[in-house]
Amino acid sequence: MFFYVYVFVSISQAPRLPKAGETIHGHKFFIGFGGKGANQCVQAARMGAKAAMVCKVGRDVFGNDYIQNFKDNGILTAHVQQTEKAATGAASIIVNDTGENAIVIVAGANLLLGQEDLLRAQSAIVKAKVLVCQLEISPDASLRALKMAKENQVKTVFNPAPAISDLPSEFYQASDLFCCNESEDYELICPVSILLIPSVHGPVLHWLSRDGCPGKSHNAEDPVMGLEAELLTGLSVTSVEDASQVCLKLLSKGCGSVIVTLGPQGCVVCQSTDKAPKHIPTTEVNAVDTTGAGDSFIGALVFYMAQYPAMPLEEMARRANLVAAVSVQTIGTQTSFPFRNALPAELF
Ligand code: ATP
Repeated sequence: MFFYVYVFVSISQAPRLPKAGETIHGHKFFIGFGGKGANQCVQAARMGAKAAMVCKVGRDVFGNDYIQNFKDNGILTAHVQQTEKAATGAASIIVNDTGENAIVIVAGANLLLGQEDLLRAQSAIVKAKVLVCQLEISPDASLRALKMAKENQVKTVFNPAPAISDLPSEFYQASDLFCCNESEDYELICPVSILLIPSVHGPVLHWLSRDGCPGKSHNAEDPVMGLEAELLTGLSVTSVEDASQVCLKLLSKGCGSVIVTLGPQGCVVCQSTDKAPKHIPTTEVNAVDTTGAGDSFIGALVFYMAQYPAMPLEEMARRANLVAAVSVQTIGTQTSFPFRNALPAELF
């Protein structure tokens, strides 16, 4: 089960960005589905988890389309509310020929997800196997959901994206697994379902901030490496050793386990039981678009948590690395996330 907010994304490619008051012709226009929670939910569902979304969309065409997208991916939508009080969250992006962009994000209905909605979804949350949260909806709603899950022995995964420097300490204590990247939902995995509330700002901003242009790959020298981890801990992350220190620091704040993802270097995993960070490298692939790799990783990871709760965390991370490595070999975000039947049998 994932807890998440989603964003409807429109992208216009144009020779340059328009000035104030100007109208220009562009080359290409396309739309897509975004939001970290939604992305993670889609990946988990494609792996075979029964997933459900808890989120709020507008009573408009974009909201209808997003609900249909969840259904098309086998995601339960009983807790997807439609409201007339705000439009579906949306991101309008203009990208010029040199890769610079201008973005307007309107959180819209996402920010209306509140305590009442959580209470409405409570019966599903408390029966979940895992709950995953991000910071893409109101932090208060995320924290309440994490606490609700933890009080009911539901495994909690917290993905602090978009990262904030003054994250309240309760978030750490409410996280069985704290998963951040070099750059980070609300997920709930029920015995039979995953419920995900995506967030508003993280996915799109992070996606374009890598290189300013959707579809381009990044590498180990990626300058954004360490952003989330650094913001949260004040430690800069440029190596596996740095990520290990970040894990220990985050662990000391009260989380059960920590994973820091490191792009093509895989990830570092550290658990409170042994406090020994372990580097889990990944396979070398021809990456063409790393957009959403972190969401593919988390979606796969929570699938394993729900499906194989006795599996060691390092093994889950190793497998999640391999799933995410498949996603980076195809352009797009949700469109690049592999289905179960496209993955090697040994991953199951
Ligand atoms: P995004 O925000 O684009 O979703 P992220 O910054 O949250 O990504 P990363 O740390 O870049 O997350 O990557 C997540 C995981 O994806 C890594 O731990 C790794 O398993 C896989 N991955 C990312 N980039 C590559 C790559 N170039 N080659 C192989 N695997 C990769």
